Amino acid sequence: MAYASETTLKRPVTIKGIGLHTGACVAVSLEPAPPRSGITFALGSERFALREATVRSTELCVGIAKGKKEIKTVEHLLSAIFGIGLTNVVVRVQGPEIPILDGSALPFFEVLERAGLVRQPARKQVAVVLKPVVVTLGDRRVSLWPRGDGDPRTLRIEVEVDFARSTIGRQSLEVDVTPGTYRQVLAPARTFGFLEDVEAMRSKGLIKGASLENAVVLDADAGVLNPEGLRFPDEFVRHKALDIVGDLSLVGYPLVGRYVAFKPGHALNVMAIERLRDIQGAFVIQDLDHPRASADSPLLVAAMS
Ligand SMILES: [Zn+2]
Repeated sequence: MAYASETTLKRPVTIKGIGLHTGACVAVSLEPAPPRSGITFALGSERFALREATVRSTELCVGIAKGKKEIKTVEHLLSAIFGIGLTNVVVRVQGPEIPILDGSALPFFEVLERAGLVRQPARKQVAVVLKPVVVTLGDRRVSLWPRGDGDPRTLRIEVEVDFARSTIGRQSLEVDVTPGTYRQVLAPARTFGFLEDVEAMRSKGLIKGASLENAVVLDADAGVLNPEGLRFPDEFVRHKALDIVGDLSLVGYPLVGRYVAFKPGHALNVMAIERLRDIQGAFVIQDLDHPRASADSPLLVAAMS
């Protein structure tokens, strides 16, 4: 179940690894932060809040910037932070991007779990979707909706991918994002790419750090090239949902709403957040209040016994 109060880390942690795009050895430290401060990025002596950052999305990763300072490949770390329900944290970055690790969000999630979360004396603030927002690009379409009858405390994701020409095919997934479902269903799903695209991307100076250690790579004929195979038969659509959690976190608050996505990508997800911000009254920031009893809450257990 999601925390009703804000949270921070019990102790600071550092994660080191290779940057997907630069191939450089990079490190990120996560440090406790006071209530109501949200996610703050620290680069040297400079600091900026996620809520004030500009998003620079590409087909391959999400960068965030404030002025001339930019941090690339933030999406899997932000996904893990929001997936576990961590509200206040300083993300200190040493290097041009966040490490890719194994291409999933699980290593980040496990580090956060080991560090431990502590509740803070402030009610959690969430961004509640009030009006529908729809973005289409060719045959691709994403939309944000109010939760309606659903759980008024969580983000629901309904996502479908269609890679007709590859072994992936059509895959779909529906999930209410809580720390439990996030860890089990989404966090272990790795990023993926196609061998035929690798050369083109490398010639643009991208994915210098990519390998079978940090991505699922598909060949048009042979299918999955990774010797260990897939973690789930539908790992691809699960990773798309993991990316959605990270991309939607760019609003700066946990989002309460329903996200319906057909063939989504970072650019489309970020456009949905930009449109949500542009439309007057499309969302409201409010305290997560009046929690309804859910299956694992003590209130419901007491009522049933
Ligand atoms: Zn991703």
